[in-house]
Amino acid sequence: MKIIKSIKEMQSLALSFRRGGKRIAFVPTMGFLHDGHASLLREGRCLGDLLMLSIFVNPIQFGQNEDLDRYPRDMERDCSIAAECGVDILFNPDAEEMYPQGFQTGVTVREISLPLCGASRPGHFDGVATVVTKLFNIVQPDVALFGCKDYQQLAVIRRMTADLSLPVEIVGMPIIREADGLAMSSRNAYLSPTERKSALCLFRAITRARNLYAAGERSVEVLLDETKAVIELEPSVRIEYVEFRDGTTLKDLKVADNGTLLALAVKIGQTRLIDNTVLGEEL
Ligand code: AMP
Repeated sequence: MKIIKSIKEMQSLALSFRRGGKRIAFVPTMGFLHDGHASLLREGRCLGDLLMLSIFVNPIQFGQNEDLDRYPRDMERDCSIAAECGVDILFNPDAEEMYPQGFQTGVTVREISLPLCGASRPGHFDGVATVVTKLFNIVQPDVALFGCKDYQQLAVIRRMTADLSLPVEIVGMPIIREADGLAMSSRNAYLSPTERKSALCLFRAITRARNLYAAGERSVEVLLDETKAVIELEPSVRIEYVEFRDGTTLKDLKVADNGTLLALAVKIGQTRLIDNTVLGEEL
């Protein structure tokens, strides 16, 4: 596995692969890899001749009082997981390489960025859309893989790729969970043992909503009350949002149907966790 830190070097290598007729699969991440990332890499390995991974903790997608400075990092461990998953090239630029002095351009995806995480993290999706556009221009992938764990992020990237006619196929991958149901996340490393237990209320809430839906409940008002009630049983967990929305447009709705998204964000201590499920689809 080759590690590249320079944009120019990455770009010229990608170009030479493409000229040689090689198909490039790409998985962008912020590192501190877990089995969720590994599932994207393994699928990417099957979809391309070359598998590229980026590890870049993107400063412009973090708000002022967020966890940029303490975001977990372990490059040595990440390299061994990446090699195990068959990564050919790891692109790991510095922030100065990606955003040199004078940088002043951004990509904004409008409506679909506004609700949910867009409402609680203003500017977050501008940062995501901008870095993903840059990474696509640097790595020049044929196919890029993203997790449904960050459902709105995937929706924003799908919208942006279509709107800007970016020549990249976007593949969404299922959420990988721990054995007890907690969605894997690099941020789970922040949780104390007690907080880790409280965090399970997210999966309990999702399960409650799915069961009610399976039993025929379609009223979003009822589903919402029941879902929130499960989380409210955990006094240490603060709800940031719990919402049912159209799974494609993210518009709000009153009646749930197959394809309806349930998206949740909570804070446990200093740690912000998100999770989601799509009704009528497998967990
Ligand atoms: P991150 O490093 O958190 O920016 O995540 C990089 C990619 O991995 C994104 O496309 C995420 O949606 C995806 N990802 C993160 N956690 C999971 C998970 N538990 N299951 C599947 N994909 C995930």
